[in-house]
Amino acid sequence: MAILAEYYKPTSVAEAVALLRRTDARLRPLAGGSQLVGDLETRAVTDVDGVVDLAGLGLNRIVQIGETLQIGATATLSDVSRHPLAGEVAGGILRRTAQYEGPVNLRNAATVGGVVASAEMDSEFYAALLALDASVVVSDGEKESVTPLDAFVIPSSHHLITAVTIPVRALRSGHARIARTPSDRCIVAAVAVVGDAVMRVALCGVGQQPVLAGGRLTPPDNWKGSAEYRRAMAEIVRQRALAEAEQ
Ligand SMILES: Cc1cc2nc3c(=O)[nH]c(=O)nc-3n(C[C@H](O)[C@H](O)[C@H](O)COP(=O)(O)OP(=O)(O)OC[C@H]3O[C@@H](n4cnc5c(N)ncnc54)[C@H](O)[C@@H]3O)c2cc1C
Repeated sequence: MAILAEYYKPTSVAEAVALLRRTDARLRPLAGGSQLVGDLETRAVTDVDGVVDLAGLGLNRIVQIGETLQIGATATLSDVSRHPLAGEVAGGILRRTAQYEGPVNLRNAATVGGVVASAEMDSEFYAALLALDASVVVSDGEKESVTPLDAFVIPSSHHLITAVTIPVRALRSGHARIARTPSDRCIVAAVAVVGDAVMRVALCGVGQQPVLAGGRLTPPDNWKGSAEYRRAMAEIVRQRALAEAEQ
């Protein structure tokens, strides 16, 4: 494992961002650690001198504010699944897709902010957030900005994702996936959300990160599936997810 020389557990977002801004040490946010710790262990990530643990920031709350559900960045996937509002959004699509992020011990650690920051191409939870028209709240230590997830660019290491927000609406959802085994990470998958004047479908496995259907797809060509196969299957899962949502 890479040797970390520094570890911090700040108690405010301003303090956390100030640490991340330091120029004399390369510090990274540490949320659930399900990805970062593995990357440090395997040395897939080496440009890190230390971590800023986000666990003391109190960013794990899930609250409804007016017509918006606000999910704190350090809420875990299990917190979301168990929450009476978040777990039931659009017929339970966040709970359903969280199951495909990994086994329960991973879901107990992995956070919503970590999923958004990692933006893994096969994250069905990320795709569900996209289909739900989620936005990302980012802090630079002084002020917060809100960006729709479909336009969100991973911020520099001087910023912190503090929350994800979802409009609260009456919606139905559908989900379809193709994987080597039922519990494996998907090759391609789709999440559809429909309601009054709403129809959004997000796709996994067809680009560097999950995307909304309708745009240009840039699928990888690898051992799990050729670009041509992924393109063809993306259309199949899109139709299946939509058909389920429209039932
Ligand atoms: C066995 C296993 C299976 C997995 N399966 C899947 C899978 O099926 N699909 C999938 O998408 N992923 C999968 N992952 C990857 C990983 O679980 C997810 O990316 C995870 O959700 C990361 O969340 P975390 O809170 O653990 O983040 P961490 O590991 O703590 O951090 C991940 C990255 O995000 C950054 N980060 C975290 N929080 C913030 C924040 N609030 N603001 C800014 N940057 C932040 C960190 O600095 C780091 O670069 C798997 C990992 C493992 C170990």
